[in-house]
Amino acid sequence: MDQQQFHGPENRLTNVLERMAKAHFRYQPKLVEPKLVAVTKTFSAEDISPLLDMDQRLFGENRVQEAMGKWPALQEKYEGVKLHLIGPLQTNKVKEAVALFDVIETLDREKLAGALAKEMAKSGKQLDCFVQVNIGDEAQKSGIAQNEVVSFVQICRDTYGLNIVGLMCIPPAGDAPGPFFALMNGLAKEADVTHLSMGMSADFEVAIAMGASYVRVGSALFGNR
Ligand SMILES: *Cc1c(COP(=O)(O)O)cnc(C)c1O
Repeated sequence: MDQQQFHGPENRLTNVLERMAKAHFRYQPKLVEPKLVAVTKTFSAEDISPLLDMDQRLFGENRVQEAMGKWPALQEKYEGVKLHLIGPLQTNKVKEAVALFDVIETLDREKLAGALAKEMAKSGKQLDCFVQVNIGDEAQKSGIAQNEVVSFVQICRDTYGLNIVGLMCIPPAGDAPGPFFALMNGLAKEADVTHLSMGMSADFEVAIAMGASYVRVGSALFGNR
């Protein structure tokens, strides 16, 4: 087997899926198998195609503009693609985001909830949403504070009629992520949401052990950005 093939995206995808399955079987066999959101930010259609050829269908992008540049053509070519927005969403991009994406993982303020509700009503396209949680209480990070998650989820549901299916987080860099993932698991139960989007290339097995239903993996699939 040559070097190219061994390090190719196909092998990386197989490897990540196997590690996910092992972690699931070992730590959370009673939960539904976690799903892989392949994070394609900064990568081209050419980089992404091998994964689509292997039937990966769930992808994450950070920026609306960047995603608009590459995904419509790929969606023409491959059926059943689901796109998650995993980066910050400005209200002036809501229209484009609702048109392109299937799931918004970064609902982090009431103004955005209002804008999303309005656009979904207008377009007739209802997207599932995750509430982003600032689980490490970091000043520079967006997300709802831990002690406001339950009430924010309720407002999104009751006032705006949004379909809140889960919570999402990016734990503080440098700290062991396990305790933050465990906190997220407790919050999801309190807020009565089904899904947890947590875990990236460096820590997705820990996240699965703590109950992640979606892991967002980029560099382990595509290499360093
Ligand atoms: C880039 C990104 C990821 C993927 O990170 P990797 O470390 O490359 O796996 C996951 N989630 C979010 C929100 C990201 O911005």
